[in-house]
Amino acid sequence: MAARILDGKALAASIRAELATKVAALKAKHRITPGIAVLLVGEDPASQIYVRNKAKAATEVGFFAREVKLTATATEREVLAAVDAFNKDDAIDGFLVQLPLPPQVDPQRVIDAVDPAKDADGFHVTNAGLVFQARGGVAPATPLGCMALIKLARTDLTGLEAVVIGRSNTVGKPVAQLLLKEHCTVTIAHSKSKDLAAIARRADILVAAVGRSELVRGHWIKPGAVVIDVGINRGADGKVRGDVAFDEAVEIAGAITPVPGGVGPMTIACLLQNTLMLCERRRALN
Ligand code: NAD
Repeated sequence: MAARILDGKALAASIRAELATKVAALKAKHRITPGIAVLLVGEDPASQIYVRNKAKAATEVGFFAREVKLTATATEREVLAAVDAFNKDDAIDGFLVQLPLPPQVDPQRVIDAVDPAKDADGFHVTNAGLVFQARGGVAPATPLGCMALIKLARTDLTGLEAVVIGRSNTVGKPVAQLLLKEHCTVTIAHSKSKDLAAIARRADILVAAVGRSELVRGHWIKPGAVVIDVGINRGADGKVRGDVAFDEAVEIAGAITPVPGGVGPMTIACLLQNTLMLCERRRALN
């Protein structure tokens, strides 16, 4: 039997509708409009689309959204100055710097400069540390989106074998932490792991966050597993594919996310959720 399709588009739409209701209540009760800002450096076409989509989604739920654009030749000092301006801007509750940055700008230095209290992406080491120790903090949006999709398929994750392929600070490692918090037995596999197929086949929950088109094949999947495909890989034919060979995997998995329409829309919805949470914390509303 073919797997259940975990519809990220529909789930994200319901999260955004819920956010819109909360934002309307904030405005009515406290005269507060949550503010989000995005810094884009350079003209990378994919980044331009992501930034536009984020700002559009933010405005639709009732946020105030600001986009600041710097040219690809901007110096690190200019980028840091833009970050500092967001840190100090009282109208901004959360913001992010769209990655990647041009080569003359050190992304780590830029992320380190973000005020953790306004860190909508949850990339600052303070938030990463708090998530690591399960002490709150801001978890990154994509891992939060993955967890919400997993929860559509399995409400109790206690004791399940989870395998995450990919160990980036932005996706692989934090999603592994969130799965651990839900009492999974977690394995993180990566480019140096041996026999990925055998590791993946252990997984009741398999998260692929690699960036290699259709790396995960059908026979890597344990029958009935929940498969979350984070990958976004644009082929020479212009088509976007995930890290999982969907047509094979859908026949074996119990539930699976499509690409597009799975994790992608959830990332934006969870980014907005993070920003509202930061707004409520900063303005001491709960
Ligand atoms: P990254 O390049 O920072 O990390 C990739 C990870 O995959 C690394 O840890 C590496 O060890 C591992 N890896 C690379 N080749 C491998 C191989 N052959 N076998 C096993 N592991 C391998 O990438 P990232 O930022 O974590 O993103 C991963 C993918 O997810 C990309 O396709 C990216 O575009 C996508 N992404 C999607 C969203 C979304 O909203 N859907 C958000 C962020 C990232």
